[in-house]
Amino acid sequence: MYWDSAATTPVKPEVLKAMMPYFVDKWYNPSAIYEPAKQVRRDIEKARKIIADSINADPEEIFFTSGASESNSWILNNFNHIKTTNTEHHSIDVLYGNSEDNLKVDSYGVIQDFNIQPNSAFEAALVTVHLANNEIGTIQPIKELVEKNPRFYFHVDATQAYGKIPIDVEDLGIDFLSASGHKIGAPKGIGFLYARKTAQNYLEPMIYGSQEFGKRGGTENVPYIIALAEAVNAIDYLKQERFKQFYEYAVKQSADWATPNGHPTNRLYNIISLTIKQPINGQALIALLHDQEEYVSAGSACTAYDNKPSHVLRAIGLSEEEATRTLRISFPDDVTKKDIDQLFKKIQQNIEILKLLSVPLGEVML
Ligand code: PMP
Repeated sequence: MYWDSAATTPVKPEVLKAMMPYFVDKWYNPSAIYEPAKQVRRDIEKARKIIADSINADPEEIFFTSGASESNSWILNNFNHIKTTNTEHHSIDVLYGNSEDNLKVDSYGVIQDFNIQPNSAFEAALVTVHLANNEIGTIQPIKELVEKNPRFYFHVDATQAYGKIPIDVEDLGIDFLSASGHKIGAPKGIGFLYARKTAQNYLEPMIYGSQEFGKRGGTENVPYIIALAEAVNAIDYLKQERFKQFYEYAVKQSADWATPNGHPTNRLYNIISLTIKQPINGQALIALLHDQEEYVSAGSACTAYDNKPSHVLRAIGLSEEEATRTLRISFPDDVTKKDIDQLFKKIQQNIEILKLLSVPLGEVML
């Protein structure tokens, strides 16, 4: 069974259906002047409005991108002074993570530094923080952070939170936000950057051209933009209530052999990060589960192949060794208690096997 929905989700049938005509019938370049092309332009603008409404923004504040990594990179390229945490996604962490200077998080991964000090008294500075963590599910107190630091521009990587919990950019008081389609049932390779009108003078293009208000060039990926809007239409915030029951059940059922990571209540309930209590080889456990067709993730899928213990788990205080015996399980929409029971039974059996073998760390690879 697939336990890695935080890594990606399948395209929803209604999303696929909505996008298909834009490959074959409505394939026109939306910038062209003839009527069928203008119709495609109108459809894109309708999609932009749906996405803007979903976060309480204006359509002129939404820029389509190839996904959240692009959105994150784009905004980071526009500021010289950046403050962030050591628990960001790799698209931010690669350049700005692992710094003593970053905002401190506690053992739940919640930001503790509310009085952010600028590096320069003169230049504009950006604070970039995830809304919900992709490995441990913790939700950050963004509104409080923004209120206490009016001098900064704020960018929020909402890739995991978008579509899971309601987001209102006005209420949060943020200037920029990144999100991605493939976490919510749209294809991989489409996302957006929200940029508040009053902050758009800080948004220089990374890809030049006339499209997207001159800020992001390239003929629009029309089918994927339509798909993103359809996936947004299908968002159901009540799902988190359902996931909460499964999350609490899973925490209870695993209490004897695992410790959960992340905040217990201020969190996304579709993600559960469990550190196995026994000092077994975590990679071997994942490999055994893989053979039993239980597809869980170590840390997050984006980091699964670089064979390094997760920087997020290290930042919340786990040792390297603890981090290597941590699993990220993210629920598919139709998860049941029976599925969780079956997975946990296999995990416990595998732990027993691995206890017998004393496999040196790092020797068994996925
Ligand atoms: N930020 C976070 C928090 C993510 O979880 C991901 C996807 N794993 C990304 C950014 C990157 O998104 P994309 O795959 O659309 O580039």
